[in-house]
Amino acid sequence: MAYEDFVKQADDLQNILFNLNKTEIHLHLEGLVSPDTIWELIQKNNLHYDGITTKEDIVCKFNIKNLEQFLDLYINIIQSSFKSEADLALLFKDMGSYLQENHIVYAEVFFAPSKFLKMGLDYGLMMDILTEGAKIIQETYHAEIKFLVDVSRTFGLENAMSNLDLVLAHRVPPVIGIGLGGSEQNGPAKDFVTVFDKARAEGLHTVAHAGEDMGPESVWDTVNYLHAERIGHGISSVLDEKLMDYLAEKRIPLEVCPTSNLFTQAYASVIEDHPVKKLFDKHVNVTINSDDPSLFSTSLMNEYMLLFKHQIFTKEELLLLVERNIDAAFLPEEKKKKLKEENRIITS
Ligand SMILES: [Zn+2]
Repeated sequence: MAYEDFVKQADDLQNILFNLNKTEIHLHLEGLVSPDTIWELIQKNNLHYDGITTKEDIVCKFNIKNLEQFLDLYINIIQSSFKSEADLALLFKDMGSYLQENHIVYAEVFFAPSKFLKMGLDYGLMMDILTEGAKIIQETYHAEIKFLVDVSRTFGLENAMSNLDLVLAHRVPPVIGIGLGGSEQNGPAKDFVTVFDKARAEGLHTVAHAGEDMGPESVWDTVNYLHAERIGHGISSVLDEKLMDYLAEKRIPLEVCPTSNLFTQAYASVIEDHPVKKLFDKHVNVTINSDDPSLFSTSLMNEYMLLFKHQIFTKEELLLLVERNIDAAFLPEEKKKKLKEENRIITS
């Protein structure tokens, strides 16, 4: 195909994709923060970071090139800039703009309280801010958001259980479940069986990151011990035929975040080698997400277009993937049906 024709096809697809009802189901709250918001927090809280004296310095810091820079920005600047519960409210403007710019009608967002609790913030007050934030997103940006509280695998079982107990003691409608993020190496899935069993018994949804920077055995443990409803990333499953068959048979969705995986460099270093296509071809139920869009300079739309422009997925496959994102969301079946029917009118 001539280059001009391909560009025209990409433009047409971009228009169609934008107009579709989209859902994003793997998205971290702080991963949506803009440099503007961090600069606002630095001034408001009178913070001092080495090498940062202007807003431009923050913008430069956001231009990350590798995992080390990502961790430096995330841990030493972003998470450290929120000093009060009310500071979290600033995130909802960034979130609203992001959802609107991608025409995302529904998102499930990870909220990781561990670091904030260690800094002395109050869980109940944070829930008030998140509840108010969800209302603002609905009223101002016409999108629905729900939260999955990341109980964290980094700080051990006791910390994760205490996070779950907080979730249960302060139940608010926008919080629908728990997630398990953090270091797969430091916190093996089987350490958290009691947390996941209790969450499920209390009617919460359960998801877990796995197979992002560790091999398929980490995904096996997550499905066998934790019975997570969805796997965050899960891309190392590509190395295990049996696991791919199992995931396909059980229709367990993988929340794949292509650009994020290129930063981690664990199972893909260039987009052409990303396992997402092989997983898809093996009938694994893959969905497409952005993880930390602001930090990786990406977005849900960008992820779809990246996969098209590098000829990893065709237009038809991408339209199917949009449907899969809807199906994998924790939404009532009626709502999913409505979103998909509206989309079919656009694509027919
Ligand atoms: Zn993630």
